[in-house]
Amino acid sequence: MTAYSFLVGVAVKSSAVLAMAWLAAWLLRKRPAALRHLVWTSAAASVLALPLLTLVLPAVRMPASGALLALVPDITFRTDSTASAAAAVRFGLAAQQTRPAPAHSPIDWRLFPMLLWAAGALLGVAQMVVGGRVIAGARRRTHPHPAQVESVALAEAIGVGHAVDVLEAPAGSMPMTCGLLRPVIFLPADAGDWDAERRRVVLLHELAHVRRGDAGAHILTRLALALHWWNPLAWLAWRESLKERERAADDLVLLAGERASAYAGHLLEVARALQSKPPVAWAALAMARRSQLEGRLLSILDPHVPRNSVARVSALAIALLAIMTVAPFAAMRAQDQPAPQATSPQDVEATIQPPPITRRSTWQPGNSPGTSSSTARRSCSKRLSSFAKRVPGGRARNMSRG
Ligand SMILES: [Zn+2]
Repeated sequence: MTAYSFLVGVAVKSSAVLAMAWLAAWLLRKRPAALRHLVWTSAAASVLALPLLTLVLPAVRMPASGALLALVPDITFRTDSTASAAAAVRFGLAAQQTRPAPAHSPIDWRLFPMLLWAAGALLGVAQMVVGGRVIAGARRRTHPHPAQVESVALAEAIGVGHAVDVLEAPAGSMPMTCGLLRPVIFLPADAGDWDAERRRVVLLHELAHVRRGDAGAHILTRLALALHWWNPLAWLAWRESLKERERAADDLVLLAGERASAYAGHLLEVARALQSKPPVAWAALAMARRSQLEGRLLSILDPHVPRNSVARVSALAIALLAIMTVAPFAAMRAQDQPAPQATSPQDVEATIQPPPITRRSTWQPGNSPGTSSSTARRSCSKRLSSFAKRVPGGRARNMSRG
């Protein structure tokens, strides 16, 4: 398996996984947003696991049609004949058995898409690293926000079992959550001037992300996008994941007892007045994006939308199950159909019976019976040698001696 065939295989299989995730999310469109977000997170985890599984799992060879083989010839494994090349030439079958060797050019054109893919992926990962470092620096430099005191009771109300640090961000910046192992909430310095209800719903929303473990899902989905930046399905997965994540957090806030109309009003005002800027936005979970606002508000205000959450343990189990499900898929390799037997010279084991020797045909006056027998043996031996030479890779067993 060459690097090119490996990448083509990963691209095809990842696209299939993302397409299946899209289908699953569509089928679950009337179910809670948390479930659809789990589908997209599991798809991202599966897409990230696919290259590793392809490398470590033994290949399972699957027959493929000629059209696919023509499209991606390097993805296939060919069946080797056990006959020697010399034997094939002797039988005049070389032209049917071997493909013409490709003409070698000084530069392999496949290098360009591979380098382009790698460059885009590196750029995406670099963006994540820069965003993470900027946030880490902000965490070190800033100090606790006065709203930290209010967050303790709210964390308990929404089901977060531990205290979460609330840190101060520049005035006018979007509230956000970040951090995988020790999540923190950034609130703008001017949040102290908001009315208490807005501060409460904003804190509840950010604490909902902490309870759901959305920082981990964010990293997985962002990594999947970075590695498959050229794939429109990866961008679809990214946008849908963000949308469903925010809706799932909104659902938790409403389940905690907030009035839908009041919450929608505060969300609208936060999205209008505040904004997040890169590079922090690359690595953090911003509270509101204007592009998603309309759908979110409709979902918040619709009393018929199911808002159940998914327990973290169940979510982890489902994501692991999804990865295990794609394992056999990762092991698959396309393989061309074996050539028909008639055109494939294989090792031949020939058993040669000499013609019956009779006195009538070989005896001449003056010859003894012994002379007749040795003449027949010599004749048979010559015919046997001649036949054995014509059989490729074959063995001849002279039955006349045994
Ligand atoms: Zn949010």
